[in-house]
Amino acid sequence: MIALLPMYLLCDGPADLRCDCPSVFELSYSERHPRPARVLMYESNASPGPAFVRATARILHRLVAQARQVIEACSRTGAQGCPSCVQSSRCTELNEVTSKRDALWVARALEQWSREYPLPQ
Ligand SMILES: [Zn+2]
Repeated sequence: MIALLPMYLLCDGPADLRCDCPSVFELSYSERHPRPARVLMYESNASPGPAFVRATARILHRLVAQARQVIEACSRTGAQGCPSCVQSSRCTELNEVTSKRDALWVARALEQWSREYPLPQ
């Protein structure tokens, strides 16, 4: 979704927004601090700025629909996905925990949720 964001907002998606995933390289830390299932996007710049997260929330329904379409259209069969669908060259965990199947589930769930519960204007 972050890679698709520049199609909707004037930003450098991977530079302006980040995601968070469990580290397979710090298993002891992950075991001490279990994380709930979640989708987390945050701005890489902590100073008051263009508020990309807020702007992203307003177009979330279109963004997740396009992300779902990209994943569904990818013909590669690897379980972890590929750079064309779910992997990121900026992933600090080297895409070790990406999952094409799970990403598709998340995109479909978010698409349905954002349709049923749109943000108030
Ligand atoms: Zn792919």
